[in-house]
Amino acid sequence: MTPENLSAAVTFAVVGLVMLFTHTVADHWVQASWQANNKGLQGDEKWTGHLCGPKRELPRWVGRLVGTERELPKKWVGRLACAAHVVSYTFCTALAVGAVWYKYGLHITWTGFILGQVISAVTHYWADRRFTLKGLAKKLGKEGFYALGAPRTGEDKDGRPYDDNPSLGTGSYSLDQSYHMFWIMIAAIVTSLVAI
Ligand SMILES: [Zn+2]
Repeated sequence: MTPENLSAAVTFAVVGLVMLFTHTVADHWVQASWQANNKGLQGDEKWTGHLCGPKRELPRWVGRLVGTERELPKKWVGRLACAAHVVSYTFCTALAVGAVWYKYGLHITWTGFILGQVISAVTHYWADRRFTLKGLAKKLGKEGFYALGAPRTGEDKDGRPYDDNPSLGTGSYSLDQSYHMFWIMIAAIVTSLVAI
């Protein structure tokens, strides 16, 4: 192993690990509820929700974009919520990678750093819009896996609507998180190898 390869391998390991650690915090603790609840919205019909009062579903700045006439289609509210989540997420990962780069004196170039963060951000946005990842799962024959644990719709045998408790222990959550892990690995490899 050449000193250059060793340096790149150490950089990959450190950047990959710190991005994974930061991912778990940024994707759960930092992500706001309004972002998680709206980022998967699709469709051209107008968004109809609470813009003010105790049931307010969007922060004021997004509410202003939606407008009091609610002229914004659902898909744009979804895109805004997803973009806001990815901005805060990438702020956290960039800060963490920047900190270890500086503190450990890792051999990272600005191009590698930026490319790694862009790969992480773009792929994260793509998956978090939900219909995209669901479509990929369907293409790969993982539709059943994706649906595991999802709250049921319809009625039970007594004619009552199902009242399943939403949970993170679902197939879609596992496929979402493993997808993010894969791209974090690619982002860390790119960060460690781009030498220009
Ligand atoms: Zn996310």
